[in-house]
Amino acid sequence: MSLASKTKDIINHFGFKFSKSLGQNFLIDQNILDKIVGAAELNNESCVIEIGPGIGTMTQEVAKFASKVVAIELDDTLIPVLNETLGNYNNIKVIHNDALKVNFKRLIEEENLTEVKVVANLPYYVTTPIISKLLTEKPGLRAIIIMIQREVADRMVAKPGSKEYGALSLLVQYYTKVEKITRVPPACFIPQPKVESAVIKMTILEEPAVKVNDEKLFFKIIRDSFNMRRKTLWNVLKQTGLSQEKLEKVFSDSGIDPKRRGETLTIEEFAKLSDRVRDNM
Ligand code: SAM
Repeated sequence: MSLASKTKDIINHFGFKFSKSLGQNFLIDQNILDKIVGAAELNNESCVIEIGPGIGTMTQEVAKFASKVVAIELDDTLIPVLNETLGNYNNIKVIHNDALKVNFKRLIEEENLTEVKVVANLPYYVTTPIISKLLTEKPGLRAIIIMIQREVADRMVAKPGSKEYGALSLLVQYYTKVEKITRVPPACFIPQPKVESAVIKMTILEEPAVKVNDEKLFFKIIRDSFNMRRKTLWNVLKQTGLSQEKLEKVFSDSGIDPKRRGETLTIEEFAKLSDRVRDNM
């Protein structure tokens, strides 16, 4: 039976109603499912945390290859469905919770998870907060393999000078090696989303891509630069309260032209700039 027919059967059997506000678009394409699981490179030592298992399609697939799967689902009405579809697997645990409220570090410790990878077809309304949480809380993940909106995927892999380049590109590229695995058209889901999707793999770097003296300041300068996209770096950094003399020193010491805009800076240049701002504070 095709994945589409299986999914429809389960939905009809439980009288399940899709919730738009919970970002429920279930994957029904075996080929894409295989690509996601393949990109996760699982073995019998890997553990998986899945965010939003839905009716458990991807959960069952990853459970075939991983040693343990912990799946976090927010929707009450899906819990009885998951109890049935996943009932025969002794390496899957379903947690009924909001992924945004989960302490992933504690979860990994409590469940004794090793070599942890997050694998998910994310609810799109929480893509950025989830990615940001998974990266900045540093729970000790190996990789994150996720389906997201294509436009967000483009921002994550974007390079300086492109219109997609922004704070999200730098956040992701600071902590991970990011690659696009495949594009996914709306027809691969029920119901079909209005937007195209993409699968992204982020492999967590052992050390961040650049060394910075003050991570908070580094990300603040990045955020300010893109929030004030049309402003020159000089005008952006004026907001730090540094005197004209100190600002001149920041730019001359870092070798960066103050007339440039943030959208043209590489991650190394942002690091240099923020370190020089820190030196002069
Ligand atoms: N994994 C399934 C699949 O691929 O077919 C379903 C993916 S669907 C795009 C997103 C899932 O995330 C839904 O099951 C939805 O109920 C769940 N969800 C939405 N918000 C959530 C949250 N904050 N925490 C955990 N799960 C959430």
